[in-house]
Amino acid sequence: MTVTVDQEKVLRTYAEAARTAHDALTALDQLSGDGDFGDNLREGLDGVEAGLDARPGEAPFAVAAGVFLDEVGGTSGPLIGLLFQEVGRALAAHGDGREGWAAGVREGLAAIQRVGEAEPGDRTMVDALAPARDALDGGAGFADAARAALAGARATADIRARRGRASYVGERALGAPDPGATGVALLFWSLARVAE
Ligand code: ADP
Ligand code: MG
Ligand code: MG
Repeated sequence: MTVTVDQEKVLRTYAEAARTAHDALTALDQLSGDGDFGDNLREGLDGVEAGLDARPGEAPFAVAAGVFLDEVGGTSGPLIGLLFQEVGRALAAHGDGREGWAAGVREGLAAIQRVGEAEPGDRTMVDALAPARDALDGGAGFADAARAALAGARATADIRARRGRASYVGERALGAPDPGATGVALLFWSLARVAE
């Protein structure tokens, strides 16, 4: 059986999750960065919902990519924009099922690493994306990919940052997971929920 996933529902579910998690993501970025990640993700995804409302016929992930690449600040805004762009391209090429998502996450992570130069273990969103990519590439379903992303995000609590602002604070952030990895894991949680 092929599970196809409604792209717009995934983005709206993600926006809702980012509103719910806003205060927690803010607190995480206050520990390891400058405290704006909760705002960046919530406001970016609110902007995506507004874009979806305004441009109903357009490809949802292309709309989302445009908002994050052009309007969302922070280090995370353009990087998540690249992820959305590659997911949108891959879904258009391979369909809205597991294959499309596997290709999109693979290409999106590659684009993020080309630009940001982070490797797994650097305490960034790469630590959520790489396990999700590996799960999907290995044939896993959406629920297992979400579990892998969440486990990867949780494991960043034990890593000292080498990239991004968190690299300046060192010890202070130890014990709390990386905000960007946590925020990106919520995308996979949203995907798994919509695919249920
Ligand atoms: P800023 O640090 O500019 O305020 P945000 O708060 O929006 O940016 O985003 C912070 C998140 O960005 C971090 O938690 C981390 O996951 C991610 N990040 C930072 N640098 C990189 C990088 N080089 N590659 C991938 N992700 C990164
Ligand atoms: Mg920040
Ligand atoms: Mg900032």
